[in-house]
Order: sequence, then structure tokens, then C-alpha cells
Amino acid sequence: MSTEKCDEKKGCQSCETSEKCSQEEKDAHEQKMLDEKMAYVKHKFMVVSGKGGVGKSTVAVNLAVTLAKEGYDVGLMDADIHGPNIPKMLGLEDERPGATKEGLLPITTIHGLKVISIAFFLQSKDDAVIWRGPLKHSLIIQFLGEVCWGDLDYLIIDLPPGTGDEALSVAHLLKSIDGAVIVTTPQDVALLDSRKAVTFTRQLKIPLVGIVENMSGFNCPHCNKSIDLFKKGGGEKAARDMLIPFLGRIPIDPEIVVSGDSGKPLVAIPGHEEAKNAFTEISKSWRKLLEEKSKVGDKKSAQVT
Ligand code: ADP
Repeated sequence: MSTEKCDEKKGCQSCETSEKCSQEEKDAHEQKMLDEKMAYVKHKFMVVSGKGGVGKSTVAVNLAVTLAKEGYDVGLMDADIHGPNIPKMLGLEDERPGATKEGLLPITTIHGLKVISIAFFLQSKDDAVIWRGPLKHSLIIQFLGEVCWGDLDYLIIDLPPGTGDEALSVAHLLKSIDGAVIVTTPQDVALLDSRKAVTFTRQLKIPLVGIVENMSGFNCPHCNKSIDLFKKGGGEKAARDMLIPFLGRIPIDPEIVVSGDSGKPLVAIPGHEEAKNAFTEISKSWRKLLEEKSKVGDKKSAQVT
């Protein structure tokens, strides 16, 4: 790659003189900007799932808010370009990010969580983003390299379901990733896809932080009996079979749907202790694993060929 020769703070896509640069120079400039911004982020995580609808974004949002409420500096990057739900789940749908010479300003929630999503840039909530891989790659470069994240303890990257372009781009662009958290539901059809997500992250040499089993059992409010709507324990068994840490299970709670739809994450509203405790426990096991990993220096670089 050619030597970086540009001092512009902005990315090549928004630079008026970028036509004077070769593609190699542009790539080098954008990677340098990205590396500079990411140098202020202590830990970077991807939240992934094998299929949609298992609660990946719900888990990403509630874990991010849990960490922010505990006093950590947290960023949440919505890398789900075709289905960006994070702003809706945080009540930020009408927000529009500002910009300074240093880059784009993420939206900050009342808990101090910094958020970026393509949804902030769409004219209408019904607009569909119909993009191929290279455009998605450019957007991810902008989100990582042109957003003023500042000093962060955690950057949580919510990826779209499956094993597609966005995950490859993130793995390719970040020099190091602390790991991937896999969200699954307990039934066999979801677990089948989760195993593919595990294989995918292993092939990219991204460490696996662990598996979260979401929608795991439901306590009937009428008879108080526990009903295993989508079975129970499948995520834990899959974690054991694949030698991955099991981070915990989150029960089905209809309030999670209501809170997500109304833009107030469950962990930020009163009541619903069982589900809330589940998020707190998962965030604890996640941080404990992280501490153990950093003791043994297990922060591998992602590799994409
Ligand atoms: P994904 O990101 O995997 O596509 P979402 O996070 O968008 O999934 O969740 C899909 C739907 O399931 C949302 O309506 C969300 O509120 C709901 N949901 C997620 N987890 C739970 C849960 N534990 N209990 C009840 N509903 C849930």
C-alpha cells in the first residue's frame, strides 16, 4: 500500500480534492483515519447471529445500556445496513448526527451511550437501502473512521444476521477485535444457523466471547409456570459442544417487545427483574472473560483473505 500523504481529517468520500489521489492513496488515508479513531477504543466487540429475529439487536442495545449505566464509555455501531433498528429501540429515530472538522458526531443517549446508524441518514423510515458489498464497505469505513467516537471502553458493533459482507468488512478493517458474541434462540433451526456463525468467526480468526441464549423459557403471568416456548438449554449445549463460553440465558418477556418498540430499553425501565438480571449477569460474565483473556494476551487479530 502506498504511503499516506494526506492530512485531511475527512474521508475521501466527502473530500473535494480526492480525485487527485490514486485508489491506493485513498485506501491508505482511510485506513489511517480509522486506525487513529480506533486507537481510543479499548475493546471492540461484534454481536452476531446466524439468523434474524433471534434478538441480536435487543441484546446489543440492552448490553450497551447496561454497560453505560455502570459508568463505562460505550459506543454502539449499527452495522445492520438493510435493517437498522437500533435508533428505534433507543428512541432516537428523529435524530440527525451533526458534523465537525473532526468528523461525524454520534448521537448520545441520556445514558451517555454514543450511537451511529444508517437510519439517521435516511429521508424516510420506509426507505430501503439497496446496496451491494462495495457501498456497504464504504459506509463501514465511514462509521469506524469518520465518527468522533472519542475515548471508549467498549465499541459494540451490531452486525446483520448471517455471514455476509458487513462482518467481513469489519473484520478486514479492524486491526484487532476482542471478540464476537453470538446470540441464538434455543430451538434446533436457530442453533443450526448459529453453528455457521461460529464457523464463520473462527475462519476469520475472531475470538469467540461466548453464546447468549435468548428467548429461553417464559414464565406465565397467569399460572406462574415456566413454559419453554422455543425449548430451553439449546444454546448452552451448543456452547458446550463447540467449546465456547456460555454467557447466559434471557427469558421471553413481552415487555422486551414493548420497550424495544417504544424506544426505552428494558434495562432502563423499572421492574422486569428476571430479564434485567439476565442482562446484568451476561455483561458480568462477558467482562470477566475479557479480563481473563487480557491477562493471557488473547486479543487476536482478525484475518480476512
Ligand atoms: P434480531 O436483531 O436478531 O433480528 P431483534 O433484536 O430485532 O432481533 O428482536 C426481534 C423481536 O423479538 C423484537 O420485537 C424484540 O423486541 C423481540 N425480542 C427479543 N428478545 C426478546 C425476549 N427475550 N423476549 C421477548 N421478545 C424479545
